[in-house]
Amino acid sequence: MIRFAIVPLLLALNFSMCKKNEVVSQNPQPGASSPAAGTTTAGGSPGVASVAASPKITKPVVDQTAQTIIFCYHLLVDKVRYPGTEITPAAFEAQMKELKDRGITVISMQDLLAWKRGEKNIPPRCAIITFDDGYKSQYEVAWPIMKKYGYPFTMFIYTEGVRGGALGGGGAITWEQLADMRDNGVDIEAHSATHQDLREGHTITLASPGGKKTRTKLTGPQYEEWMQNEVVGSKQLLEQRLGIKVNCFAVPFGNYNEHVKEIARSAGYEAMFTVYGQPITFTSPLDSIGRYAIEANKPKVFEDAVKTIGASTSGGAPVAEVGAKDLATQPADGETARTALPLIKANLSRIGQIEPGSVQMRVSGLGVVPATYDPKTGTVSYQVTQKLREKSCSVFVSAKSQGKKVEAHWTFGIEESPARAVPPAAQTPKK
Ligand SMILES: [Zn+2]
Repeated sequence: MIRFAIVPLLLALNFSMCKKNEVVSQNPQPGASSPAAGTTTAGGSPGVASVAASPKITKPVVDQTAQTIIFCYHLLVDKVRYPGTEITPAAFEAQMKELKDRGITVISMQDLLAWKRGEKNIPPRCAIITFDDGYKSQYEVAWPIMKKYGYPFTMFIYTEGVRGGALGGGGAITWEQLADMRDNGVDIEAHSATHQDLREGHTITLASPGGKKTRTKLTGPQYEEWMQNEVVGSKQLLEQRLGIKVNCFAVPFGNYNEHVKEIARSAGYEAMFTVYGQPITFTSPLDSIGRYAIEANKPKVFEDAVKTIGASTSGGAPVAEVGAKDLATQPADGETARTALPLIKANLSRIGQIEPGSVQMRVSGLGVVPATYDPKTGTVSYQVTQKLREKSCSVFVSAKSQGKKVEAHWTFGIEESPARAVPPAAQTPKK
C-alpha cells in the first residue's frame, strides 16, 4: 500500500519537471485552411432577405478572433502538500469566480472543437476547465463548485487509475461516479492507460498480471504494442464502460513527439492536449493544444493566463467590426452574383490608415486568397479563379489600422442561371 501511495507523488514531481522541457510550436498549422467558416448571410437583416435569391444559412459565421484559455487542475485538498498538482477548494473557487467577474465565458471543450470546425460560434473571450487523472476530489469537491457556477468541464482520465490496476495512483474516481458525471453533461476524455511518458525508448513501468512491477525501456514492435493500449485501449475502455464518444487526448506530462501524435490521430482523436499554456485561437493546431497547469504556489500562472485574453471587464472586443456596406463591397452583401468566378472587391479607405501588408482576404471554401491591395485607392480585390461550389459565399477582409485589427465580412449568393434584375443590395439597410 505504501508503495502505491508514492505513485501520485512521483507523478506530481514528474509533472512539474517534465512540462518545463516541453517545446510546442506556436506557429499556426501550415495550411490550416480552416474552411473559412461560413457560408451564410452575414447580417441576416430583413432588408437583405427581400432581395431575391438570398443565400441560405448553412453555417453560422464564426468569430475567428475569439480566444480561449484552457486550465488544467489536478487534486483539490484542504492542506496543500504537493503544490505542483494540488490546490485548495477555496483557491479553486476564487479562480472560478474571477473568470465570471472578468466576463470570461467558461465553455465546453466540445464547443471549442465545434468552433474550430466552423460549426458554432463562441464568445470573444473564453475559458475551458479541465481536470486531469480522475481523482475522487474532482467528483466530491470540484464538481459541486462547478455546478454552483454552472460551468461545463472536461475530465481527462487515465484508465489504470479507475480500474484500480497495479499502476494506478490511488484516490481514483470510480466508474459509477464517472457515469454520474456523464449523465449530468460532464465531458469525459482520455489521458492514456497507465499515465507514463509515451515517447519511444523512455523508461516506463510495466506490471505483470500478478502486480509485479518492472522498470524498462520499450522500442520497436513491443513499444508499438504498448502504445496501442495506452492510446487506443484507454479510449476504447472509456467508450465501452461509459457508452460515450472520446475525441480528446491529454498527453501524460505533456511529453510527446510526432510519432505519438500520429498514433493518436489515427486512433481517431480530434484534439491533443499538452500543458504548455497559451491562448487558443482559430488557427491553433489541434494536435498540441496548450493548457495552463494551475499549481498552488504559482497563482501568477492563472493571473497571466487571464490577462493574455484581455484584462478589462468591459469586454472590449479585440477587433473592430466594420459594416460591409461601408466598404462598398463587390458583390454586395446579399447580392446574387451571376458567375461562380466573381471578382471580389472591397474599399478599405473608410477604415483609415491601413498598415501595409496587413490586408488579408478569406473566402469560404477557399481560405486565405492571394488578394491584391492597392494603397492608392484603398481597394482590396481578388479574381476568383476556381469556381465557387456553394450557393453562397462569405468573404472576410481584415487589416490593421493604427495597431488595431479591423474586420468586415459579408455574404453574397451565386447563381449561374440567366440574369434577373437584382436591386443593388448595397443600398439595403445593414445592422
Ligand atoms: Zn496526468
